[in-house]
Amino acid sequence: MNALSKTDKEVNNILNKEMERQAYGLELIPSENYASEAVLETTGSVFTNKYSEGYPGKRYYGGQEYVDMVERLAIDRAKKIFGVEHVNVQPYSGSPANTAVYFGLLEYGDTIMGLKLDHGGHITHGLPISFSGKSFECIGYEVEKETGRINMDHVRELALKHKPKLIIAGYTAYSRPIDWKGFKEIADEVGAITMADIAHIAGLIAGDAHESPVPYFDVITTTTHKTLRGPRGAMIMCKEKFAKDIDRAVFPGLQGGPHDNTTAAKAVAFGEALKPEFKNYAAQIVKNAKALAEKLKEAGFELVSGGTDNHLMLIDLTNKNIPGKVAQEALDKAGITLNKNTVPFDRRSPFDPSGIRLGTPALTTRGMKEEEMHKIAGWIAETLENHTNDEHLAKVKNEVKELCKGFPVPGIKI
Ligand SMILES: *Cc1c(COP(=O)(O)O)cnc(C)c1O
Repeated sequence: MNALSKTDKEVNNILNKEMERQAYGLELIPSENYASEAVLETTGSVFTNKYSEGYPGKRYYGGQEYVDMVERLAIDRAKKIFGVEHVNVQPYSGSPANTAVYFGLLEYGDTIMGLKLDHGGHITHGLPISFSGKSFECIGYEVEKETGRINMDHVRELALKHKPKLIIAGYTAYSRPIDWKGFKEIADEVGAITMADIAHIAGLIAGDAHESPVPYFDVITTTTHKTLRGPRGAMIMCKEKFAKDIDRAVFPGLQGGPHDNTTAAKAVAFGEALKPEFKNYAAQIVKNAKALAEKLKEAGFELVSGGTDNHLMLIDLTNKNIPGKVAQEALDKAGITLNKNTVPFDRRSPFDPSGIRLGTPALTTRGMKEEEMHKIAGWIAETLENHTNDEHLAKVKNEVKELCKGFPVPGIKI
């Protein structure tokens, strides 16, 4: 960073440290990824300088000819990727996108139904202390204890009992396919609107590695920075009949000026997702996750639901006698980043849960394949067996660094 290194040494030093961390560490947080150099460039472009409240062709400020062009391009590309009728690319992030859907389609006090947070749902799907939980009557469905999977009979039973106005499917910590059609049938039975939150799996859907909710669902929200590998942000896709209510809820209902630099970067990322290579990337994410899961199971780890069909897995560490937090901290010292996570029916607290969550999108973007996954599973097992031995963790960290040198991170040259 040429300008920054001259004007602000303090921030520049911190930035350099973070680049080093990203380049020499293994990123296994399943919601993270590495955006391309083109996406990073566009995010940092002069579109940062622009204000453009409103929508293309209907703005409240002048000078919009190029912002309109780039926002329309982002919308058209998103439509092409997902085959949807209407797209709003302005939500600042996933949480505001979900909030806008509720704000646009519900009344305060309406009943909504989503997967419980500690079973793999998201805070915005009805956690009592979140905006969603405070504003709506929230019914949480669960995964089945024996299988770790969503049982559609249980979902149907709850829906018939509580008659929700909105049913949400799409999760942050669920490693199995989602039965979109099944959800739609239940929603139709009780007259509910269907919302798919594909924040985690949007890239898999775009790359044909996961079934799409589009043929069935009314509204689909997604972040753009997870498997979709774009800038930090979100979008809402919906059937034409909800378009007006959704657009009005985003602006002026909830937000002011859109982040035009992010919109432009979304257009770039969507362009990348439309390329044939993106399908290989999506397929490899799943292959890598399965390879990692198999090796971890061989090392005696217990996976919730017994494995994975997508980009992530949830490990219950109870049998290893290591709390999730201790595991996360030990792995951090070994250069392996992931997050502690509750497991369904967790006996420990959310701040000190029994599990860890990990995934393969970021490693796949670096070009790693099954062979590397096998190595990494070995390091994870080794680290947790030696989690109190700092010397051993430093040794693993060095080995990790050596591997990482062969797989550069987009946009980082060190
Ligand atoms: C990440 C995520 C979100 C929220 O995204 P933010 O950009 O962090 O606000 C919403 N829903 C699901 C399912 C997610 O995984």
